[in-house]
Amino acid sequence: MIYADNAATTKPSKAVIEAMLPYFEEVYGNPSSLHTPGQKAAEALQLAREKIAACLGASPKEITFTSGGSEADNQALRSAAYLGKRNGKTHILSTAFEHHAVLHTLKALEKEGFTVELLPVSPEGLVTAEQVETAIREDTCLVSVMFAQNEIGTIQPIGEIGEVCHRHGVLFHTDAVQAAGHIAIDVRDLNVDLLSLSAHKFHGPKGVGALYARSGIRLSSIIEGGAQERGKRAGTENLPAIVGMAKALEDATAHLEENAQKVTALRERLIEGLSKIPHSALNGDRYARVPGTVNFCFEGIEGESLLLLLDMAGIAASSGSACTSGSLDPSHVLLAIGRPHEVAHGSLRLSLSEENTDEDVDTILKEVPRVVEYLRSMSPVWKDLVAGKRKFIL
Ligand SMILES: *Cc1c(COP(=O)(O)O)cnc(C)c1O
Repeated sequence: MIYADNAATTKPSKAVIEAMLPYFEEVYGNPSSLHTPGQKAAEALQLAREKIAACLGASPKEITFTSGGSEADNQALRSAAYLGKRNGKTHILSTAFEHHAVLHTLKALEKEGFTVELLPVSPEGLVTAEQVETAIREDTCLVSVMFAQNEIGTIQPIGEIGEVCHRHGVLFHTDAVQAAGHIAIDVRDLNVDLLSLSAHKFHGPKGVGALYARSGIRLSSIIEGGAQERGKRAGTENLPAIVGMAKALEDATAHLEENAQKVTALRERLIEGLSKIPHSALNGDRYARVPGTVNFCFEGIEGESLLLLLDMAGIAASSGSACTSGSLDPSHVLLAIGRPHEVAHGSLRLSLSEENTDEDVDTILKEVPRVVEYLRSMSPVWKDLVAGKRKFIL
């Protein structure tokens, strides 16, 4: 099987699994216990916190462990919103193509009385610092813009947006789940106040993530209970997973450049090859993108059928759309960049990692055009398009 769905999750590396094992078998104490086994666990927890902080240019006290990217997003947004409310500021700025962990939290905050404004994104899948600056109001308490888009892979100008927010005294959160471990991040350089990451998107284990919160920002608890994580996130820490996340981020950071170069070369071949399919289009800016993510629309077909046939051909990909959730709505991301419904339905996301090879790309470039052609040959919509009864969009 060719695994080309690394934006959904990555394979945990051998080194990560090996780093985790002692924390199941030997160091199994509770980090909150005062005895020696507990203190050994507490030391490992602290070391993991230091490693993750170092990879982000943060200090260890600024790192809170969570159950993943979704929880980190929830906690970041709620914390900033509640801090704002205390100063009478209840306006929140974000974008139309955020991950649902952000969008749905913002919906919940709207019900609590906050005003949420979602900035439109360009057809290239980008937002600008100027857009943010124009939209910031007197009562804006938070700006949340994702670092790298999970469906189309585009990278947002986080440093420029951070600078604008900093200048206006507005807290800035970025969902960096698709960026961490893939592109260099320095929270101070970027003027980021809150940043979410998730281990399973960079060859770490699932169910663990981290929230960076700049020193001085009071986090609100999402999970109430014990005093773990300085009272901001109750629950016994998932130490094996946290150790695995630290190892994964350290490895990813150490090999960032070479991995990016390798994966970008594979991605470029994919984009060039897939672009040859008639009536297709790359989604998102050609170059401002994470190394591994490619998303295409093919007119006249359904993304789901394409996925199933690719799966049968030994290729694991994604439609990048919300259809997996059982809804038939096309991806909010593709609609946000202006793709009409009928085109947005025919999307394919291929997301590569450094584990993929040139041969993988060869196979994908052989199979995707074949399957697209096959599906079109059976598609009534395609027949209408070819017969001129409908107008081609792409
Ligand atoms: C995967 C993902 C999340 C959710 O992370 P989990 O650890 O799976 O909860 C949030 N935001 C983005 C951009 C993602 O890609």
